[in-house]
Amino acid sequence: MQTYSFEYFPPKNEKGEQTLAETRRQLVPLGPAYCSVTFGAGGSTREGTEETVLTVQREDGVPAAPHISCLGTDEADLRQLLDTYRDAGIERVVLLRGDKPLQDTGTSQGTFNYANELVEFVRREYGDRFHIEIGCYPEFHPEAASASDDLEAFKRKAEAGADAAITQYFFNSDAYFRFVESVRAMGVELPIVPGVMPVTNYKQLARFSDICGAEIPRWLRWRLQEKADDPSWIMEYGVDFITEFCQRLLDGGAPGLHFYTLNKAEATKRIWQNLDLPAADGATSEARKAG
Ligand code: FAD
Repeated sequence: MQTYSFEYFPPKNEKGEQTLAETRRQLVPLGPAYCSVTFGAGGSTREGTEETVLTVQREDGVPAAPHISCLGTDEADLRQLLDTYRDAGIERVVLLRGDKPLQDTGTSQGTFNYANELVEFVRREYGDRFHIEIGCYPEFHPEAASASDDLEAFKRKAEAGADAAITQYFFNSDAYFRFVESVRAMGVELPIVPGVMPVTNYKQLARFSDICGAEIPRWLRWRLQEKADDPSWIMEYGVDFITEFCQRLLDGGAPGLHFYTLNKAEATKRIWQNLDLPAADGATSEARKAG
């Protein structure tokens, strides 16, 4: 089964709340399988994540999936959080190590050092109550000592009890196909869903990519850089490029797509409609386009 989903981040202020509400209004009719909500670096938006997840779950008729990170989360916090989610009917969680905040917020390390320990804990304590998603890196995690160390770490995390993985964004389909091939050769069979970053703002994309190690190919960087101050050109070029890129991934066997919406609807919605992706609940194409 293919899984098509969206990712939001918790809004930081009232304007952000309005933007996210409008984005949800536009994206929900497309019929995603679930919408996930990020956990701020070092736990900085833990309350925001909880609030946003519970709102999406309650109001949108779409399953919501909180991200939970090791950083800043100790065992007692984690139990409380998972109990709250369980009681609210949440069925899916995205478990990560988390990124340290860029500025020191005094966040504690937490009980767990790596995501595999978090996966192990949730599986042990909550059995099959949650569907567990983990992160992975077709271009390898920037802190990994080597490609094979990173593949071994991924295998360990998958075998700790994950159901599926979502990739960091990337713009090179070969990196994804090779990564999948490598982990299959290691006996890891879980679905690996590409994380897709719509291209709408070159400066922001370049900044994110420098931090997370996702490569913007030279030819793409040059095209975008030249038009960095022309948002409508970037939008058209980005929608066209990412639509083709996603089609290549799906044609090559990708088991779905997870869109990093950055709380904006337009690019994700147009890519989804260009690809004519199916709604999770089987709604007709016409009903989906009505949104
Ligand atoms: P891990 O799997 O723990 O790996 C981290 C690094 O440690 C890797 O280099 C790995 O090779 C290495 N490693 C793993 N195990 C060991 C070990 N036992 N010994 C030595 N090295 C080891 N960040 C947030 O803060 N909030 C979010 O909401 C968020 N959402 C994300 C969603 C997705 C789909 C993805 C792909 C990433 C997300 N991130 C988020 C970013 C993520 O937290 C960072 O990339 C983080 O640096 C790594 O997280 P991980 O879960 O992949 O870590």
